[in-house]
Amino acid sequence: MGILDRAAVATLPLVPGPLMRIVAGRYIAGEELEDALKQLAEYRSEGFAGVLDSLGEETATAAEARLVTEEYCQGATALADRELDSYVSIKPTHVGLHLSEELAHECYAKVARHCAELGQRMRVEMEDRATTDGTLRVFERLRAEFDNVGIVLQARLFRTPADIDALAPGDLSVRMVKGIYLEPPAVAHTDPEPIREAFIACTRKLFERGAHVALATHDGGLAQRLLALVEELQVPEDRFEFEVLMGIQHHLWEEWRDAGHKVRVYVPYGRCWRAYSTRRLKKNPEIFRHVTRQLLFGES
Ligand code: FAD
Repeated sequence: MGILDRAAVATLPLVPGPLMRIVAGRYIAGEELEDALKQLAEYRSEGFAGVLDSLGEETATAAEARLVTEEYCQGATALADRELDSYVSIKPTHVGLHLSEELAHECYAKVARHCAELGQRMRVEMEDRATTDGTLRVFERLRAEFDNVGIVLQARLFRTPADIDALAPGDLSVRMVKGIYLEPPAVAHTDPEPIREAFIACTRKLFERGAHVALATHDGGLAQRLLALVEELQVPEDRFEFEVLMGIQHHLWEEWRDAGHKVRVYVPYGRCWRAYSTRRLKKNPEIFRHVTRQLLFGES
């Protein structure tokens, strides 16, 4: 982390609530499920599908993890009621992975079963490297029991190609991301171009084994290279989609949608938006630069 980034992060607790709320408002639908549903409906009218995320991580107790599970089930039901083409996406430590893998499996399985009854998919997200092994173990267990559960894989980690090879054969749905957690050079690529190259190599591996891949990026150059890969491998439209975060690079979503590709927008909501935004900014201070640029110059 550079000196400027460190200084910016150090001032985060001093940023007044209303200002932080304005900043977060661009990236977070609101505090309630209803806010997220409205946002998803708005995106639907623009031709975008959705992903629903309730903010939270490192849940303190098993009882809380079970409450989070209920909340996700309610969210999935609401998506079905509103006929939204969206699915729920859940962080492992939000449902207690750091407390026990058994607990995380129990919670995910409950949501997966509920979503399956509604004809929906569900996705297990990926957090920092301390959780990668546990997350993959829970995912493989779920995958053996349900056919509607996907995973996230991070291009920056050196281990990801081997992780792809180690996944059991069969249907596979992966959201490919660069990885938001800044991992040390001993275990991860740290420069932008090697991360892009790793993203493309992992995506190739996934396509070659027949996986469905959500290309989750706002990096327009990378997206072009991924579309060239799609062309080269003759991947049909129903085996990939773009996934983007609410509020970021809207013009790219439109470009991809207008070119006939499926685009899904990730819509987070929740009361702990400040803690979440602060933690995200601390984990990756580059976001702080994006946000500041956007505030000062109106860039998206
Ligand atoms: P970058 O090069 O980082 O960004 C490209 C451009 O997009 C930047 O120049 C900037 O203008 C803009 N931009 C990117 N991010 C922001 C931002 N936050 N605020 C403002 N502008 C921005 N990571 C995980 O580790 N685990 C997950 O489970 C996970 N799930 C994700 C789900 C979705 C749908 C998406 C889109 C991303 C997810 N990520 C996840 C985050 C991902 O790993 C990257 O950190 C993030 O997408 C930024 O990388 P990028 O590919 O967009 O490229």
